[in-house]
Amino acid sequence: MKRRARAPSSFILPAPMIITIDGPAGTGKSSVSQEVARRLGLGFLDTGAMYRAIALAAIRRRTRLDDADALGALAESVKVDFDWSATPPRVRLDGQDVADQIRSEEVSSGASKVAVVPRVRSAMVKLQQEVGRNRPQLVTEGRDQGTVVFPNAELKIYLDATPEERAKRRKLQLETKGQKVDYAALLEQIRERDARDSGRSVGPLAAAADARRIDTTLLTQQQVTDAIIALAQQVQKQA
Ligand code: C5P
Repeated sequence: MKRRARAPSSFILPAPMIITIDGPAGTGKSSVSQEVARRLGLGFLDTGAMYRAIALAAIRRRTRLDDADALGALAESVKVDFDWSATPPRVRLDGQDVADQIRSEEVSSGASKVAVVPRVRSAMVKLQQEVGRNRPQLVTEGRDQGTVVFPNAELKIYLDATPEERAKRRKLQLETKGQKVDYAALLEQIRERDARDSGRSVGPLAAAADARRIDTTLLTQQQVTDAIIALAQQVQKQA
């Protein structure tokens, strides 16, 4: 008896599904993005970790954070990539795992300074687009993912929340780590970082015209995640 040829569908690659999640810090973006990726079985790209890795490299080499030429050259010469076998993937700087070192306050503030430099941004954007080509099933979070990096993404989300709510969340987060913090100082830091992220000339923090905006101020993380999953399922059905 003749064997039936295998159904050609087994050779069809899954359709690309890039979900961009942009928005300022303190909107729950990172946790929500990871949870969406986990539930949909997609990869997860934390683009903030890449700017943080450049800031860490600059701090280690004592490169001034206001020296655009030096920062541009640095971003073009170091290797920033991820260990994709970890969940979430861990960022590496010149092959060394720096996923924990990039979370300090010094690096957080440094990251938003190096991120204003156009050469730094274009080096990171290139790397991010390469990840998208190699892993077209991806949730990618940042500030410019829907506007600059993946303008043709299948689904674009923009998360927001009031600065007061974001400062409150950050305070709680730091307090659970045993750190004592001043709410007014945190609110001021958030406002400063927002101004720097929104005011830069290249890749500013912004919602794409076709992004779905979600105000997370009064929502739980679970509600935000569910809303994005529902949108992703709609997109998948339409594809
Ligand atoms: O998201 P996260 O707080 O880790 O990002 C660190 C900094 O990197 C942000 O304050 C922002 O200035 C910068 N960033 C960016 N573009 C991205 C992701 C992060 O400019 N796509």
